[in-house]
Amino acid sequence: MKLNVLGCYAATPRTITNPTSQVLEIKNHLFLIDCGEGTQVQLRKSKIKFSRINHIFISHLHGDHFFGLPGLVSTFRLLGREKEMHIYGPKGIKEAISLLLKLGDSWTNYPLRFHELTARDSELIFEDENVTVETIPLDHRVYTNGFLFREKMGERKLNIEAVANYKIDKCYFQNIKNGKDITLDDGTVVPNNKLTFDPPKPKSYAYCSDTGYYPEIIGQIKNVDALYHESTFLESEAHLSTKTKHATAREAASIAKKADVGTLILGHYSTRYKSIALFKEEAEAIFPNVELAEDGKIFEF
Ligand SMILES: [Zn+2]
Ligand SMILES: [Zn+2]
Repeated sequence: MKLNVLGCYAATPRTITNPTSQVLEIKNHLFLIDCGEGTQVQLRKSKIKFSRINHIFISHLHGDHFFGLPGLVSTFRLLGREKEMHIYGPKGIKEAISLLLKLGDSWTNYPLRFHELTARDSELIFEDENVTVETIPLDHRVYTNGFLFREKMGERKLNIEAVANYKIDKCYFQNIKNGKDITLDDGTVVPNNKLTFDPPKPKSYAYCSDTGYYPEIIGQIKNVDALYHESTFLESEAHLSTKTKHATAREAASIAKKADVGTLILGHYSTRYKSIALFKEEAEAIFPNVELAEDGKIFEF
């Protein structure tokens, strides 16, 4: 799994920072998560192929998370896109985008499929043979979801030496990879664990932005490999944090610790801070494995 952070700051774009957007590469999918202003330019800078993006997940309808979407939708048209585009986001997102397209009489020549979300409980919104995506209901000033991306368990790995020793024909390999035992010509049953190795452990990534301190999510994100949790403020601005339903670095770390995640990635920093180093310091007092998101940074897990 590879996470490209395109932008990870709150509120307004600046010459040196961008509002929220990320691309998650998982099992051959490129999932775009949030689309703040400037996302197209950041995609270009990261050399990410626009045509490989088929699913866009929008957490909520604050500008710093979706004002880049109308522009991107329009660019896909100019690039001659024909493939379907799926957009998952709060109810109202279809109306917002459609109105802009209508006023400019610039309808897309590719199918735009909106999946509008209204549920207050987590729901499965995407699934194929390799991956699932669930919403993570969050606590913000407007209706907001995080997203939980999980790889599915892959097929078992063939033990080439063992299948050769038992002289097993190639035509049985797929069954073996699917976990089946094999009966030899003399009637001996060879159990699957003698012919295969365990597949790699499936990876998971939880994206939680924007939200106040919200322990209700802990059960759902337990043990994920990586958690991106917003930390708009430091504890010194906790009063602002509570008022605006954002989280501090300390609160993000507390969630990471209780959920026992692998790595905590902090982001959505308020642009009031000169340096983001203090976010790491504050979080590490609570939870050891903290990384700072930065525009253009890539995480692999
Ligand atoms: Zn935001
Ligand atoms: Zn917000």
